[in-house]
Amino acid sequence: MTQHRFAISPFRQALPDGHSPGVELAESKARLGQAQEHLLTTLRSIRQGIMIFGPDGQVHLCNARAVELLQLPAHFAEDAIDLSDVAAVLTATDVSLGADGQSASMRRGDGQVISIQLNRLTGGGKVLLVEDITAERRRDENLQLAESEYRSLFENAVCGIYRDKPDGTPVRANRALVNFNGYETEAEYNAAVKSNGGNWYVDSDRPRLFQHLMATQGEVRDLVSEVYSHRTRKRLWITENAWYVRDQSGNPIYTEGTIQDATERVQGLAEVEQHANTDQLTGAASRFHFMNALNAVTRDLRGTCVLFTIDLDKFKEVNDMLGHGAGDAVLNATARRLRTLAGPAATVARLGGDEFAVLMAGVSATMNADMIAADFVNAMRQPIEIEGHNTIIGASVGVALFPAHAADSTELLNHADLALYHAKTSGKSKACIFDHVMKNRLQQRKALEAELREAIPANTLELYYQPIVGTASAKVHGFEALMRWNHPRRGFLQPGQFLDVAEEAGLMTELGNWAIRRACRQTAALPAHIAVAVNVSPSQFRSSGIVDHVKQALADSGLEAGRLTLELTETVLLSSEAIAARVMDQLIDLGVKLALDDFGTGYSSLSYLQRFAFSRVKIDRSFVAGLETKPANTAIIRAIIRLAGDLGMDVVAEGIETEAQAALLRAEGCDFLQGYLFGRPKPYLDITADLAMSSLREILPSKPGLPLETHAQRRTVHNSL
Ligand code: C2E
Ligand code: CA
Ligand code: CA
Repeated sequence: MTQHRFAISPFRQALPDGHSPGVELAESKARLGQAQEHLLTTLRSIRQGIMIFGPDGQVHLCNARAVELLQLPAHFAEDAIDLSDVAAVLTATDVSLGADGQSASMRRGDGQVISIQLNRLTGGGKVLLVEDITAERRRDENLQLAESEYRSLFENAVCGIYRDKPDGTPVRANRALVNFNGYETEAEYNAAVKSNGGNWYVDSDRPRLFQHLMATQGEVRDLVSEVYSHRTRKRLWITENAWYVRDQSGNPIYTEGTIQDATERVQGLAEVEQHANTDQLTGAASRFHFMNALNAVTRDLRGTCVLFTIDLDKFKEVNDMLGHGAGDAVLNATARRLRTLAGPAATVARLGGDEFAVLMAGVSATMNADMIAADFVNAMRQPIEIEGHNTIIGASVGVALFPAHAADSTELLNHADLALYHAKTSGKSKACIFDHVMKNRLQQRKALEAELREAIPANTLELYYQPIVGTASAKVHGFEALMRWNHPRRGFLQPGQFLDVAEEAGLMTELGNWAIRRACRQTAALPAHIAVAVNVSPSQFRSSGIVDHVKQALADSGLEAGRLTLELTETVLLSSEAIAARVMDQLIDLGVKLALDDFGTGYSSLSYLQRFAFSRVKIDRSFVAGLETKPANTAIIRAIIRLAGDLGMDVVAEGIETEAQAALLRAEGCDFLQGYLFGRPKPYLDITADLAMSSLREILPSKPGLPLETHAQRRTVHNSL
């Protein structure tokens, strides 16, 4: 800053020449010179530029700083210039010097800001003060900018911002907060807070909590509360933060804070929670909620509970047959009934599909769990109205007690399920309480399953054959092949003893396909007029390779396709009619015949007869059994036979044990008869012998007593197949 070229002309004309110098004069001159010296030094060193004009407008004095700041030509300092010259320069830089005592500022080309002030001197002249105020101006501008930035942030923030006095009187509130409370202006809002501030929070304890947090922690962080919008009184959720603004000695002078609308988030959470805790269809508790409740009880040292698991017996059928709407109606009715019986303290949950659970916590182990379970079973035996029809669904119930039956929630649930499983396998619509014997039985079942996997390779399966007799001819028309298992330790097992294990273990298709292969091979070796019927389970029918498998079995055995009948039950048709119909067509294309087994036990049997290409109907044993005593059965059988006749189907009656039954069926015109009366299922060996014998009898009708059957014969036949 000291490199300024010091261009100043001393007081021009300040000391008019021509005065006679004396001693005093010399002294005063010296004093004057000194004063001038001081003045010059001062003028040289101050940061202001100074120009002094005489009354005539001539510049009397100008320091270098003024020349520099005003960017005047250098000669200003030396040459005589007048105020108008300066004014011209200033005009060129957009600053006008109007009235005296006025000030102005100008921005120079290089960006520096210069302030200029013109004051009148008492002697008639003028003094011009020039100053570089760039730094101050910049500071001001920055301050202004910052202020306007903050103001904009404050005003335009999406969250509410406020400043209150410590007593709660509002000082400032931004637009978001004003609008949040239903107002347009800050004044309206302030007025509302003054008259009604205490009633903002829905929970009347909230202000106290807020004050407590401020007092103890000096701030409030992310406090979520429900409030009433001041004007509308609409309930909204907020998240708020607050803190104190303190003076230098630390005393709070303001409370400041932010308020965010959390309504959507809170409602979203509540919805999610509600969603997670409730089964949307039935309104019962969800599995998630149920497991939480179960865990809470079983983790409590003194917790006790009874757990019921419930499974509907015929849900799948209803769902498949009558559609999902019907299925939903059943599930809703189930949830309703369970809730009514279980009472408000119990947790009724839908665990998935048609599986329900009821948790009764805190009840003593001595409560009559078995009676409650029986109530559930009974309630589910009552018909449910679906689309105007009463349908009986039925349910099985498993029960397990905590802590008597299990150590934790997982085990408790497993044991209730085991009891449920037991209830289902010992006949539907039953309730069972867990006991430890059940567990053993399950283990045995698992063992049976493992052994069954070995049955085909170990060659311990066998087919028995039961004759089907022509009503008119009284001769054997063919046989139904029925599976038996020569279990290595348990002995000879009937299908009822192992087929559901096979079904559950996913082995049914393998076993069933084996039966088809074996029956084809064995039948191919029988006289050509003898047919064979093989049972096909629903899962086997639905398995992808069934058509190919039958084709292969026929090809391998050389059995003529027309001699093979496959017996299907209605359940085969339930899941997808379109697929079932296609598979059936493919089988029929092979030349195979199809029989509808167990006819009369299912749902809409008669409509199936018309819709699917069966060539035979087998009337279920249950109709035949009551034939002599129940006239209604006769009527039903008559109707079936007539309908089947109209549709060009054969009718076989199953389970005939008495002559009376046989006589009635003959009279009704049933085509074929099957039952113990005509022969029990027998080993292949036996039927070949029987057939051989009867054909011999035909050849040698008049010579009885011939030794037709010998052990040697039997062995030969058996080994060849
Ligand atoms: P189903 O197809 O209804 O077979 C007829 C059942 O009735 C056979 O029982 C047979 O022994 C029995 N039965 C025949 N006549 C009479 C009678 O006059 N009185 C009585 N009380 N019962 C009679 P079995 O052999 O125990 O077979 C039971 C079921 O096992 C069969 O019922 C069939 O559904 C299934 N099954 C048997 N073998 C096979 C097979 O190879 N594959 C498939 N998928 N299922 C089979
Ligand atoms: Ca059958
Ligand atoms: Ca049957």
